[in-house]
Amino acid sequence: MGDFEIKGKVAIVSGGGGVLGGSISKSLLEAGVKVAILDIREENLQSRIDELSPLGEVEGYTCNVLEEESLIAVRDKVIKKWGAIHILINAAGGNIPGATLTEDQTIFDMKISDYKKVTDLNLDGTVIPSLIFGEAMAKSGEGSIINISSMATYSAITRVMGYSVAKTGVNIFTQWMASELALKFGEKVRVNAIAPGFFIGDQNRAVLINPDGSYTERSKKVLAKTPMKRFGDIKELNGLVQFLCSDAASFITGTIIPVDGGFSAFSGV
Ligand code: NAD
Repeated sequence: MGDFEIKGKVAIVSGGGGVLGGSISKSLLEAGVKVAILDIREENLQSRIDELSPLGEVEGYTCNVLEEESLIAVRDKVIKKWGAIHILINAAGGNIPGATLTEDQTIFDMKISDYKKVTDLNLDGTVIPSLIFGEAMAKSGEGSIINISSMATYSAITRVMGYSVAKTGVNIFTQWMASELALKFGEKVRVNAIAPGFFIGDQNRAVLINPDGSYTERSKKVLAKTPMKRFGDIKELNGLVQFLCSDAASFITGTIIPVDGGFSAFSGV
């Protein structure tokens, strides 16, 4: 495998109890990476650890990505156990119901407290872990941080204003942190983001799939603007994640890479 080899590295995956973080954790374990999964929901975390333990070395930590102290505690435990942190996947995030407008609401109906919750989770929930775990990478002189952006950062997608604003913040943070780390800590600590198109997850299932299993009107619009005419399979993120974690990506930092079946490339016409 040469430059693509990631076996033996140590990864932190936030939100690993969820759909995308769980799938990414599984693929990293299968590639021989040791994985520490962080999630705020203890029951999600425990079922994920039970599922993944047979595949390799995996540890679970109940942790809120917005709490500096609990992140520092996890950082110290992981370094004590496995000696280093090479990879950080910031996959904790997603929409929250109160910040997702219903069809008949306008932006003026959104509670500002819900807007704050969604921007805190999706922006600060990436920035704060990047600072805590990125510092360990900067000290050791090696690391790859991968943030999760969104299609909601290219042009306006109705109903999810707070989420769009926060994920667009993640984009500039990715570019900013990539520049900062390369300028001040050398070229071996890299920061990139992946921008998934539409994958069915807990956070968006209700707006994409009707209770009877059929596609919602919104789903049909998404598929009409997706040249590949389908939703993504979460496994389709894994190749890019592994590549970005490997030395094969040694000159790649500060990028935001879509994995979207062409959604961001196509005008819909
Ligand atoms: P998900 O809801 O299945 O998983 C998110 C996980 O994060 C959950 O297990 C949740 O408990 C955890 N979490 C929430 N708040 C946390 C906190 N404060 N601290 C620690 N953990 C916390 O969502 P998903 O679909 O797997 O999405 C993961 C990421 O990918 C999110 O950033 C989401 O915005 C992004 N994304 C998803 C899609 C998609 O189509 N599913 C598309 C684009 C981007």
